[in-house]
Amino acid sequence: MAVDYQSLAVPGVRALSPYQPGKPIEELARELGLNPSEIIKLASNENPLGPSDKAMAAARKALDEMCLYPDGNGFNLKQALCRRYGIEMDQITLGNGSNDVLEVITRCFADADSEVIYSQYAFAVYPLVAQAIGARGISVPARDWGHDLDAMADAVTDRTRLIFVANPNNPTGTVHKSDAIEAFMKRIPEEVLVVLDEAYCEYLTGDEYPDGLDLLERYPNLIVCRTFSKAWGLAALRVGYAISSPAIADILNRVRQPFNVDTVALAAATAVLDDEDYLKRSRDVNEAGLRQLEEGLDRMGLLYIPSAGNFVTVEVGEDAAGIYRSLLNRGVIVRPVAGYGMPQHLRVSVGLASENERFLEALSEAMITAGEEG
Ligand SMILES: *Cc1c(COP(=O)(O)O)cnc(C)c1O
Repeated sequence: MAVDYQSLAVPGVRALSPYQPGKPIEELARELGLNPSEIIKLASNENPLGPSDKAMAAARKALDEMCLYPDGNGFNLKQALCRRYGIEMDQITLGNGSNDVLEVITRCFADADSEVIYSQYAFAVYPLVAQAIGARGISVPARDWGHDLDAMADAVTDRTRLIFVANPNNPTGTVHKSDAIEAFMKRIPEEVLVVLDEAYCEYLTGDEYPDGLDLLERYPNLIVCRTFSKAWGLAALRVGYAISSPAIADILNRVRQPFNVDTVALAAATAVLDDEDYLKRSRDVNEAGLRQLEEGLDRMGLLYIPSAGNFVTVEVGEDAAGIYRSLLNRGVIVRPVAGYGMPQHLRVSVGLASENERFLEALSEAMITAGEEG
C-alpha cells in the first residue's frame, strides 16, 4: 500500500482549510479574457490610492541592496515606529505582514492543551493559527455581528492562553469604544494574553475609540498588532508588527524568522511613516467612499453592517454566490464571506469614487439578473 502522506500531517494541520484570499485581477482577466485594466478589485481591503510616492522612492532605492540579507533587527523601521508612537525599540516585533505576527504569537503562547478565544465572524486567521498548532479554538457567538466582549470574558477557563480581539473587526467592520475594551481588559486574568488586532486603527477618528498603546501601559498582558497593508498602502510588501511589553517581545523575537521582513519592505515602511499627507488622503478617500457606498446601498434598500474599516459588508440575500459571480462577469471583484458563516453577505472594500460607483451600478444590475446568469 502506498503511504498516505497527508495522514502524516499533525492533526490540526490535516483538518485545516486554507485561507481564501480575494481573487487576483490577473486571474479574473485570464478567466474572462478581459484586459486587467477593465477589472476593479474591491476584495482585499487594499488602499485604492496606490502606493505613497515616498514609499515607492525608498523601495526603489532599496533594490540596490537586494543581494544582501536584510537588517534582521529592522533598526530603521523600529526607530521610525518609536518616533511616531512614543514606544521603545524592545517592545516591537516585526512580521511578514501582521498575519505572521499573529501566527508567531500563537506558537509562542499556546499549544495543544490550550484554548484560544475569538469571536464568531472574526478575522479568519485566528481560528486558522489556533488549529494549526492543535489548540482548541473557542468561537464565541457574536452580538450584532460584533464581538460580545462579555461573553468572551465569560469563556475564559484555566486553559485559556490567548484571546484575539479585532478592533475594528474584519469582515464585519464592527468596532468597540474605549470604555468597552477597558471593561473587557479588567475582566481578563493577567496570565491570559489579549491580542488586540488594530489592522484598521488608522481609519478610526474620534476620541471614543481605544488606542491599544494607551492600554498597554495599564495591561501588560496586552499585545497590539498593526499592519502597513491597509491605510499605509503596502499590502504586497508584507509588513506588520506587534507592540507589547519587552518581556513578551523578547519571546516573540526568538521565534520569528530572523529575516521575516525584507529590505525593500523595511525601507518602504520606514519612509511611509513620514508621509503624513498620504495617510490623510487614505483617511479622506475612505471616509468619502464609505459614505458613497452607504448612500448607494441605502438607495437600493440593502442592509449593511455599519463599518469602521475600509470596507462594507452588505446583505444581498440567499443568492450571494450568484451575485458574486455576476459581479465578476462585470469585472468587479468583491469578497464572498460564506466561509465566515455569512452566506447572505458580500464584503466590498472602499475604492476610489469611480470604483465605488462602478460597484454600485454592477451590484444593482447583478441583483436583478444574477439568477438568470446561473
Ligand atoms: C488585513 C488584516 C490584517 C493584516 O494582514 P497583513 O498580514 O498585515 O497584511 C490583520 N488583521 C485583520 C483583522 C485584517 O483585516
